[in-house]
Amino acid sequence: MAITTINKKSRHDLRLQRKAGRIVADVHALVKEHIKPGVSTAELDVVAEEYIRKSGATPTFQGMYGFPATLCTSINDEVVHGIPSAERILNEGDVISVDVGATYKGLIADAAFTHPVGAVSDDVAKLLIVTEESLFAAIEAMRAGQRLHVIGGAVEAVCNEHGYGLVRNYGGHSVGHKLHEEPFIHNFKTEDPGPEMQPGNTLAVEPMFNLGTEEVYTEDDEWTVRTKDHKPSAHFEHTILITDGEAEPLTIFEPGFRHTGFLNN
Ligand code: MG
Repeated sequence: MAITTINKKSRHDLRLQRKAGRIVADVHALVKEHIKPGVSTAELDVVAEEYIRKSGATPTFQGMYGFPATLCTSINDEVVHGIPSAERILNEGDVISVDVGATYKGLIADAAFTHPVGAVSDDVAKLLIVTEESLFAAIEAMRAGQRLHVIGGAVEAVCNEHGYGLVRNYGGHSVGHKLHEEPFIHNFKTEDPGPEMQPGNTLAVEPMFNLGTEEVYTEDDEWTVRTKDHKPSAHFEHTILITDGEAEPLTIFEPGFRHTGFLNN
């Protein structure tokens, strides 16, 4: 049965979840500094795990459904859920999606960003910029009293405007005491409008756009998701609090901050 309400966090929970969000924002900033040609994804994973543990939190993804690492690191045609490895070395011109969750005193925040490695082609830079913009279009649409499917509607509209492949099999979720709470959040407008958003809901919204086909498949490792035509993919995610006014991303340093901001220059 479709769910009719989304769980609300207490003030206490929100204090902890804000802290988790801050840790996740910090980890992303730190990992970003380490992204350069010649670095392995296993090295990035170590940097992230050390920072999370030093902050008094734990890496949420470790051991979840059997996932073996702190980060999901997905390069180029890998969409999501790539496993860090000492053998995976970043090359100039790659893009890498870094997804990380931190659990602070039982509360979770989750965010993902796709970064260029050195200089990337104009087509790929634009894919990153537009995918991040679609996340902010969703954040603008997220208001108390609105139904959940406005999120997917906002994401899908941006995707269609640019003719990218919209990944449909994966999406966002409520997040809190558990990483994946109900409801699932589609990246396209569903016929069923879903429940109303209310102050105190915290939702992870995560658009994934492909440069080519929307079709994806899962590798033999049973984790890594790739585009069928092997063209690059981009993935951006924030954990977002519904308030009485504008929705507030908890995994960001300053309102409106864009990871792809520098690509516009
Ligand atoms: Mg997520």
